[in-house]
Amino acid sequence: MKCQDIRAAIDTMSKRAPMSHEVKSHTGTCTDCSRYADQTTALLSLLSAQPRVEAPADFDFRLRARIARAQAEPRGVMATIEAFWSKSFSWGQAASAVATLALPSH
Ligand SMILES: [Zn+2]
Repeated sequence: MKCQDIRAAIDTMSKRAPMSHEVKSHTGTCTDCSRYADQTTALLSLLSAQPRVEAPADFDFRLRARIARAQAEPRGVMATIEAFWSKSFSWGQAASAVATLALPSH
């Protein structure tokens, strides 16, 4: 397998589908893919450690309002949710939300 294939496999890995032996043996010999796998694993564990990253208080309300409007739009609800999510919630914001959650609440 090429690096490109290995990284595609790493991209699709999850808790339910961990790295295959092929990917593991490649990352054992390829520094770049090894680093890529480490970063992906770190991201996955961050996400699973903090499954309830806090959204803004009115997030749900705003999202529902957008969905209600989107139902009339031809491009569909999912496209609107994706656009809304990517606009509302960058990785930087997610990281600071995680940092906030890590602090004592009072
Ligand atoms: Zn590689």
